[in-house]
Amino acid sequence: MKFFSTRGKSEVSCSANAIAKGLADDGGLFVPEKFPQITKEDLTKMIDFDYAERASFVLSKYLEEYDYEELLTACKKAYAKFEDCDGAPIVKIDDNFFIMELFHGPTLAFKDVALTLLPYLLRKGSDISGIKENILILVATSGDTGKAALEGFKDADGIKIMVFYPSEGVSDMQKLQMCTQEGENVNVVGVKGNFDDCQTAVKKIFVSKEVEKDFRNRNVVLSSANSINFGRLAPQITYYFSAYCDLVSSGEIKMGDEVNFVVPTGNFGNILAGYYAKQMGLPVGKLVCASNDNNVLTEFYVTGTYDANREFFKTTSPSMDILISSNLERLIFELSGRDANLTAKRMEELKKEGKYSITDAEKTKLYQDFYADFTDEEDCAQTLNEFFEEYGYVADPHTAVAIDVANKYISQSGDNKATVVLSTASPYKFPHDVLCAITENAPADAFKSAQKLFEETASPIPEQLLSLKNKERRFTGVIERDKTLEAVIEFIEK
Ligand SMILES: *Cc1c(COP(=O)(O)O)cnc(C)c1O
Repeated sequence: MKFFSTRGKSEVSCSANAIAKGLADDGGLFVPEKFPQITKEDLTKMIDFDYAERASFVLSKYLEEYDYEELLTACKKAYAKFEDCDGAPIVKIDDNFFIMELFHGPTLAFKDVALTLLPYLLRKGSDISGIKENILILVATSGDTGKAALEGFKDADGIKIMVFYPSEGVSDMQKLQMCTQEGENVNVVGVKGNFDDCQTAVKKIFVSKEVEKDFRNRNVVLSSANSINFGRLAPQITYYFSAYCDLVSSGEIKMGDEVNFVVPTGNFGNILAGYYAKQMGLPVGKLVCASNDNNVLTEFYVTGTYDANREFFKTTSPSMDILISSNLERLIFELSGRDANLTAKRMEELKKEGKYSITDAEKTKLYQDFYADFTDEEDCAQTLNEFFEEYGYVADPHTAVAIDVANKYISQSGDNKATVVLSTASPYKFPHDVLCAITENAPADAFKSAQKLFEETASPIPEQLLSLKNKERRFTGVIERDKTLEAVIEFIEK
């Protein structure tokens, strides 16, 4: 299967090439030439599969050049790192209301679902593509991707990984998780600025022909573990299918019924995977895009204009503190009827003026599949509190944003289909803010907050976090945002 760039000036002959390259040469994102179909018969078969089998089945529809048995083995290995070997267990909260918990992997965020598998997809993709150089993964993170990528790629053969995070834009636990990272091939640097600054700096390195040449002379090629890489996106498609199978299997829905998914959204990677699942034939009703105070996507939904010229807010859901949602480009491409010239023009406008608009016809298409709304800080905390009081369920702030938007959507639309909220992080990644929401105050120290949260809720503290306390802080450097390239070169030379 061929992969095209959303900006039309680049294409590759297979998924292995697209994954190895990460970003297309023209700065666009790779999209599959068509959406492979999964039929009702396939879905019925998948009900009896375990998570790894479901994943390899869905992935094989795109990864035609990868050996199926090998892919299955890689999936089994990746998802063995999750509790009960399940990447996406479903919890029933109430009639027709479910939470899909995507955070039971090694670093307690949904990014693990893709990043436990990406090292295999990338290594194999590079081999298939005949790439002999060492691979350098550059990651810009709003908090969770960095840790999940570091953990996935640590000590991987022939691969180095370097992570940039906004020095004041991540939670204490997130920072600690990253700066204590083990492995000989890893580096972590704080950048003075916000996530968009990190992402822009990394993208700039990616698209520079000069840098590419220079790195090749050093026997290094770049790749990406961000959700701009199709290898990140593809494993995320699986859990929409998996959730559906579980709901059928537990008798909550009948095969063929539509299900709504509510997704706490930042870079638009997670929810886009749901859109891909729908394009592949999964009976999905609405995909509900939930934002925090950085509600650029809600505004886009309402007005048809994407405008990143706005104030940036630091919130208690930092992984959604994003003004430029990279993966929206893939949706815009589809809405335009796959018009790459138009997509390229819009992305140019976004770069130059910070905004672009879609047509009314495109907006109508958008409304068929999506709904969008946002939740402010106060409502997020209140939702977290009420949800705990009512159901005894402790959500993290990102998930709480989605729960509140789910409730708003249901009450406004009267849509009574089964609704699945995607839960993207363990509440213990944000113990201070979660505890504040539940008890109205919390110790400044993250570990003390975690202990108190445990006493209040009886929800067990994940071992991965407890062990951080005594780990060596290996990476404490912070740099100016225009020094990222220098830092990368220094790391290569090391
Ligand atoms: C990354 C992340 C998100 C946002 O996901 P996108 O794919 O970037 O939209 C939401 N919640 C948490 C906890 C995350 O780590």
